[in-house]
Amino acid sequence: MIPFLDLKKINEPYETAFQEKLKSVLENGWYILGKEVETFEKAFAEYCHSKHCIGVGNGFDALVLIFKGYIELGKLQKGDEVIVPANTYIASILAILQADLVPVLVEPRLETYNINPDLIQEKITPKTKAILVVHLYGQLAEMEKINEIAVQNDLIIVEDAAQAHGAESFKLQNQNSKFQASENLKSKIDNLKSTIAYSFYPGKNLGCLGDGGAITTNDSELAKALYSLRNYGSEKKYHNEYIGVNSRLDELQAGFLNLKLPNLDSDNEKRRAVAKRYLAEIKNDKMTLPFWDFSDNHVFHLFVIRTENRTDLQEYLAQNNIQTVIHYPIPPHKQKAFLGWNNMSFPITEKIHQEILSLPMSPILTEAEVDFIIEILNQY
Ligand SMILES: *Cc1c(COP(=O)(O)O)cnc(C)c1O
Repeated sequence: MIPFLDLKKINEPYETAFQEKLKSVLENGWYILGKEVETFEKAFAEYCHSKHCIGVGNGFDALVLIFKGYIELGKLQKGDEVIVPANTYIASILAILQADLVPVLVEPRLETYNINPDLIQEKITPKTKAILVVHLYGQLAEMEKINEIAVQNDLIIVEDAAQAHGAESFKLQNQNSKFQASENLKSKIDNLKSTIAYSFYPGKNLGCLGDGGAITTNDSELAKALYSLRNYGSEKKYHNEYIGVNSRLDELQAGFLNLKLPNLDSDNEKRRAVAKRYLAEIKNDKMTLPFWDFSDNHVFHLFVIRTENRTDLQEYLAQNNIQTVIHYPIPPHKQKAFLGWNNMSFPITEKIHQEILSLPMSPILTEAEVDFIIEILNQY
């Protein structure tokens, strides 16, 4: 059986190091917001070429706290509209609601599964104040166009990079448009407003052994509010500036992440190598392979194909001992939780949710496994 994702095998090489880390945290006797969290925040900020990194409890909280932070700074107000792709994982939409903001769904492109910038403008109203861009399946959205729309309409951009750790332009510029490295690059970086949410849920490209998340930003004022908001709105113990929450990156999880972060680039490279083989060698008219420009702006959190006979293909693969998963079977606007939206129509989103199937994808897939998956798909 080729599992869709073998987390046990992914974490196996770290076993001894994890145990030593646990021992060191135990010996340290400091369990909340200690030196592992501090070390990770520094390392991840540096990795993302971002001024600040704030470790939080999970990816959902990272998003909620960004919105709450902007509300505290007076840059967003309750009831403001936030543009978000209609086919995202539901957490993005729930985070907007959790911050008392109003999600406005926009269709993705069928080819990239990412928000279609050409459809954003028509959804902008006087109440629209932000765009939540989701880099779905690990591929960066079309940030050049989106940034332009944001500038023209004075919108804040928040990015959900829960599936896109290490995508290249984050690392280079932390703002995702393709500036060439130049002398004034640094000042451009400093002026960028975008704030990015990450999740370290175990299955993500950088995953811990439980829940974890982080926010990166170049906005020092926002960062200051976020350090406080995640910790009961208090920077100085028992002095509360904001109505905050308890959402701190766990000390032990930060310790595990410190061990895994140095391998993130090579893990992503291995994912891209698998994707390259899938794209070159799967030859079957019954399926559409995902778009990729072969740049490092895709970290292949998932390799998502489309097919009209999904149930049949998934069963066929299962009979051949290949496990696949659907990300995601029901679009957010068709969920029971959003009864009021159930009659809305998003044809591209609905088509995507009906046809997509995620093939096994991870840095630990062997050549032989990839050979076998390709062979079985070509025989279908
Ligand atoms: C995983 C994920 C989240 C939520 O992260 P958690 O750590 O599980 O809260 C948010 N958005 C997207 C796109 C995700 O894939």
